Amino acid sequence: MKVYNTLTRTKEEFVPIEQGKVSMYVCGPTVYNYIHIGNARPMIVFDTVRRYFEYKGYDVNYVSNFTDVDDKIIKKAIEEGVDSTEISERYIAAVKEDMKNLNVKEATTHPKATEEIDGMIEMIQTLIDKGYAYEKNGTVYYRTRAFKDYGKLSKKNIDELEAGHRDEAHQLKVSGEDEKEDSLDFVLWKPKKDGEPFWESPWSDGRPGWHIECSVMSKKYLGASIDIHAGGEDLIFPHHENEIAQSEACNGVEFAKYWLHNGFLNIDNKKMSKSEGNFFTVREIGEKYPYEVLRFFMLSGAHYRMPLNFSRDLMESAKAGLERIQTAVSALSYALENAKDGDITADEASIIDELKELTNKFEASMEDDFNTADAVSAVFEMVKITNSKLSSDNTKKALEEAKRIIVTLCDVLGIQAEKAEELLDADIEALIEERQQARKDRNFARADEIRDELLGKGIVLEDTREGVRWKRA
Ligand code: AMP
Ligand code: ZN
Repeated sequence: MKVYNTLTRTKEEFVPIEQGKVSMYVCGPTVYNYIHIGNARPMIVFDTVRRYFEYKGYDVNYVSNFTDVDDKIIKKAIEEGVDSTEISERYIAAVKEDMKNLNVKEATTHPKATEEIDGMIEMIQTLIDKGYAYEKNGTVYYRTRAFKDYGKLSKKNIDELEAGHRDEAHQLKVSGEDEKEDSLDFVLWKPKKDGEPFWESPWSDGRPGWHIECSVMSKKYLGASIDIHAGGEDLIFPHHENEIAQSEACNGVEFAKYWLHNGFLNIDNKKMSKSEGNFFTVREIGEKYPYEVLRFFMLSGAHYRMPLNFSRDLMESAKAGLERIQTAVSALSYALENAKDGDITADEASIIDELKELTNKFEASMEDDFNTADAVSAVFEMVKITNSKLSSDNTKKALEEAKRIIVTLCDVLGIQAEKAEELLDADIEALIEERQQARKDRNFARADEIRDELLGKGIVLEDTREGVRWKRA
């Protein structure tokens, strides 16, 4: 299996540290708002990478964090006049719901930064003891120049980086970091400001910098050396570069063997981002399309390292493509109801062989740095064959085998080829009634759960003055 490693800028043969096992860390979201579909791209892409490893028989230990202490969370908490934990817990629950809707498997562990502060203090202390970090007035900085490999991931030269810090003195004053030994040094620990959440530490009552959390959680849950570290390409610098500097200086071993980065999800060829305001939340899209269409769009639209432009046209074509697969599988299920018993015929065996050839093509695509778009094409070719060559005139055995092949490969992509059974109108109305009762009982958690369950099945609720209206998305 070949994977593109950002560290070497080449496709390399994947060789796990421990045979049959994969340890994987994927940087997760900062939880201060609903995630947008750009944030969903790494979740979907690396979930698919995980699923492929599992399909190949690897035991995958998959860790993805929630950054639940951060300036943006604190700002939002102040705006709303609530505790920052209330903000982070609210949006962690929301992300988990979005992930479920997108059929992203739960990580083996989803650590939260705020629950790992002790480990961070310990690692920072080790870095100080080893001369890689220093304290000034309660702030601890990483001494970037002390780490000789700094820049190896992003291919940045440390002197050029330094030169890039034009108007350095001014910048440092503005950020309150003018006591740093060097402008390249970054924060590991900072003292609290009034009203901010804080933890006690040997240096000050304060909180950790962003980069240290991933170094600590990765080590705690996966060990000092891991197979894969992943995230969006905007994380290469400085986040991942800094993680390497921290972890390798602390542990004295290579941090991650393979670094995988997804390209951006764009809108009008510009990165979708909260700060630019050019974003759609996963939920917004989920109201217009079934969630699985969004997932299918991400995987069929482009190679994961390439930019992917979001557009209505591409979503429509993803929707049509997915329906083509699901319709073919329902046709097989329907044919099975009236099919013959008995052994597979010679003609059928050759059809199954064609499907097996295409399974090889699917696998070859996935083994070429997870080329999901080509893997999807292989499934389309399968569908063409089953549509034209299989019907209720065939044997059950042949139909079952054809169906099993397609369903299994779609499952690797996290796509359900067998359409979930449609809810009957009466079932929907019963659930709506239960939701109304839950609201009367002020059991809003249950009420939300019902709304989301319905949404997951493509039923959109609208609360109006006349009562609840619903429609199929
Ligand atoms: P953040 O919450 O900004 O730290 O982002 C969480 C994850 O989403 C990171 O892996 C980012 O690299 C990724 N990400 C953010 N915006 C985009 C985008 N427009 N396209 C693809 N990935 C993104
Ligand atoms: Zn990280």
